[in-house]
Amino acid sequence: MKIRIERGACVGNARCAAISNDLFPLDDDGYIATDGFEVAAGTEKLARNGAKSCPERIIVVVEDDGTTSWPPAARS
Ligand code: SF4
Repeated sequence: MKIRIERGACVGNARCAAISNDLFPLDDDGYIATDGFEVAAGTEKLARNGAKSCPERIIVVVEDDGTTSWPPAARS
């Protein structure tokens, strides 16, 4: 499972970092500081919750089979 983040669309409200500052680090201006990451075993739930916390829906959950499970109407 992977997380992909449309970083350029981040509005910097830090909801993701409030779920996990380790998975969703912010830069000095409060915007997301990663384009995404491979989700480590045991952190899947945190990663999914972080994705769902983003009101902009720019945190995309990509499953191992390549399908997108979040956001529901994801752009490909
Ligand atoms: S929740 Fe979304 S918009 Fe807010 S800081 Fe995180 S990635 Fe950016």
